[in-house]
Amino acid sequence: MIAVRDLAKRYGALEAVRGISFEVEPGEIFGLLGPNGAGKTTTVEILEGLRSADSGSVTVAGVDVMQDPRAVKGRIGVQLQASAFPENFLAREIIDLFALFHGRRVDALALLAAVGLQDKASAREEKLSGGQRQRLSLAVAMVGEPQVLFLDEPTTGLDPQARRNLWALIRTVQARGTTVLLTTHYLDEAEILCDRVAVMDGGRIVALDAPRALVGSLLARGFSKPAVQQQANLDDVFLDLTGHALRDD
Ligand code: ATP
Repeated sequence: MIAVRDLAKRYGALEAVRGISFEVEPGEIFGLLGPNGAGKTTTVEILEGLRSADSGSVTVAGVDVMQDPRAVKGRIGVQLQASAFPENFLAREIIDLFALFHGRRVDALALLAAVGLQDKASAREEKLSGGQRQRLSLAVAMVGEPQVLFLDEPTTGLDPQARRNLWALIRTVQARGTTVLLTTHYLDEAEILCDRVAVMDGGRIVALDAPRALVGSLLARGFSKPAVQQQANLDDVFLDLTGHALRDD
């Protein structure tokens, strides 16, 4: 669904992306991990047709993105930050607005229900909680029924419940056949959610495999650390006390 070959991009003297190659299979949840400045955003924006590359080739959903960056936009969904939404619109109006951009009619209420926001259809976007906004932006990204969904740090700033709810939603999107490419700084998120991850550092991919396989190969190389006896952490305490359910406050 995504094929990247020898992709390179420099900003002046800075080589932000240094000849990376990877493929994403249809229906996969694929993670791009890496420290700040690794080149993740640059890579993703090239894949989305938003940024030009210096060399290499990129195919997304059958479109040669270098040749035809506009064509790819009709086949992908990009989760925007909620700050990109116009002010003073109700949640359902935002869905309708983006449907208009895509030139299609959608059932806004059904889409909002799919992300657990059926009760918030007539709420103003700025009145939603952080988790609700992220779910609204996921619904907006799904308006065009994309073949590939791009998520940039989808759970940053969310509490543990809201993060888990969003992970469940992303899996639902995957179950509908959509391929997902996400960036994240959260390694637990990558481990739980991603079928495979590419670890980027300094503009290169330094590892690419299933999370479990990456851990396995580290252990096979003789890595060890002091045994951790604790079977739960503060995250688990938080969830035990406050529950997993979607909340609308
Ligand atoms: P983060 O996790 O902080 O979002 P990232 O992995 O997404 O980082 P990029 O945003 O792709 O990294 O940046 C890669 C490098 O390119 C960084 O050193 C950054 O400062 C630089 N860079 C990014 N965009 C530009 C630009 N428009 N002009 C000049 N340099 C840029």
